[in-house]
Amino acid sequence: GATLGVLGGGQLGRMFAHAAQAMGYFTAVLDKDETSPAGLVSHQHVRTGYEDAKGLAELAGLCAAVTTEFENVPAGSLNKLAESLPVSPAGSAVAIAQDRAAEKAHFVKCGVPCAPYAVIETAEQLAAVNDALLPGILKTARMGYDGKGQIRVKTRDELIKAWDELKQVACVLEKMLPLAHECSVIVARGRNGDIVNLPVQRNLHRDGILAVTEVYEGNVPAAQAEQAVAAAKSVAIGLDYVGVLCVEFFVLDNGQLVVNEIAPRPHNSGHYSQNAMDVSQFELQVRCMTNLPLVQPRQHSATVMLNLLGDLWFKDGETAKAPAWDQILALPGAHLHLYGKVDAKPARKMGHLNITAASPEKARETALKAAEILGIEAF
Ligand code: ATP
Ligand code: MG
Ligand code: MG
Repeated sequence: GATLGVLGGGQLGRMFAHAAQAMGYFTAVLDKDETSPAGLVSHQHVRTGYEDAKGLAELAGLCAAVTTEFENVPAGSLNKLAESLPVSPAGSAVAIAQDRAAEKAHFVKCGVPCAPYAVIETAEQLAAVNDALLPGILKTARMGYDGKGQIRVKTRDELIKAWDELKQVACVLEKMLPLAHECSVIVARGRNGDIVNLPVQRNLHRDGILAVTEVYEGNVPAAQAEQAVAAAKSVAIGLDYVGVLCVEFFVLDNGQLVVNEIAPRPHNSGHYSQNAMDVSQFELQVRCMTNLPLVQPRQHSATVMLNLLGDLWFKDGETAKAPAWDQILALPGAHLHLYGKVDAKPARKMGHLNITAASPEKARETALKAAEILGIEAF
């Protein structure tokens, strides 16, 4: 079999490797970390940084095609690899996803509504901010994830302090919107333009980190679900995107659908697809990068995903034993995924639990039991 490469050795790379291997491919990972989750399960592991010319050349020499699992891989590294082999997604699309200002400009270009915002790169732009954007959230334009690099501000004074706190790097200020709930859509687009989607995912975040994803008929009103799928496809097509793309949305109190941000890769909110869909988001990633047919995935089970954060390994500030997996695995429809991370830290993504069932009610009931056993807050 051919070897498929992935930039980044985190859990997304690990689950990509599992999917690729199930389809007969070998995998190669580029990641500095000796014990990266993806490196541990791959045939080849290039241990360099993302910008290391020798490492990139070595990866290119090993692989038939390359993808990325880490959102902040320098676009230049993807472009460099693209000189010698197929790379998806392209550096140009990833560059837009890496910069909130460019990302929002793309939404505007596609005619997909996003939160009112202003780009703040200079003291002049800061001073010129319209009061209508307050209260708001100041977000660094680059490198933020899991709510990091974001400060909520109510007043102009708070805004000025927040920008100092963020070291006056390029930011966007977004108006704080009244959210009824959050959802996301994953699309996969091939080099020939074929595009398929996973169903709309309803997401609950806690402390800026995804906590719960629920996917079943009626999780989001049908009108917004349809709009979200159409919007996600137009965002992907507008980027001439090849690969798996996640588009995050807000549903406002008044029912309006607003796009939040995109991730140019499989996404935490799509992990349920491993057990509740007949094609997972990681298999879609493999199919995109190897020009295999994209079939519309079919959901066969109602599902709830619970994220397993490192906090579960701690009790009263002390490292405790691993959670009671035997009790979790006694629940019907429980699918445990652990990422093989060497040490647990609070807020670190250690794994996820997919619950599948014949009905939404049953899936929720079982997921709530699992949450209780684990000590995860109910939802
Ligand atoms: P991710 O880990 O998903 O990449 P991130 O760090 O890029 O997260 P965002 O998605 O921008 O962060 O924001 C994190 C969360 O903060 C959102 O999911 C939402 O709950 C809340 N949030 C962000 N922007 C707004 C807004 N304009 N109005 C209200 N809530 C918001
Ligand atoms: Mg983000
Ligand atoms: Mg987000």
